[in-house]
Amino acid sequence: MQIVDRTVASFHYTLTDDAGQVIDSSSGNEPLSYLHGVGNIVPGLEKELAGRMAGDTLQVVVQPEEGYGMPNPMLVQVVPRMAFQGVDQLEIGMAFQAQTPQGPMSVAITGIDGDQVTVDGNHPLAGKALHFAVEITDVREATVEECVHGHVHGAGGHHH
Ligand code: ZN
Repeated sequence: MQIVDRTVASFHYTLTDDAGQVIDSSSGNEPLSYLHGVGNIVPGLEKELAGRMAGDTLQVVVQPEEGYGMPNPMLVQVVPRMAFQGVDQLEIGMAFQAQTPQGPMSVAITGIDGDQVTVDGNHPLAGKALHFAVEITDVREATVEECVHGHVHGAGGHHH
């Protein structure tokens, strides 16, 4: 069976950056399962998986425009250290949930200069090219319920 809309595809992947550093991998875990055609995964990867079958392996380079987008400078802010009351030691790379008028947002500390702390609400992979090494392990038809919900149920997906 080929990967088309309304199929659930499972695959193992290793994601590396331009320098070849591993960012993420399914190695040692269950393969990732997604419902094809509804944007469960980054567009550049979803596009390349279309028409593939179980057993296929492929290398995909996804540019930021088809990955996590370009960083938005509006999401980078400098806040006073006292905004982090209750946190013993601030370090670059620490992530927090920030309450914003648009709802909770995940931000990471990207700079500390004395009393000034720079936080960045962009996705950590925004602006980065994504190098995926993919091995497709399974393709099956999605259930009606999965199509209605827009995500995969069961192994590698939602349990609810
Ligand atoms: Zn569901």
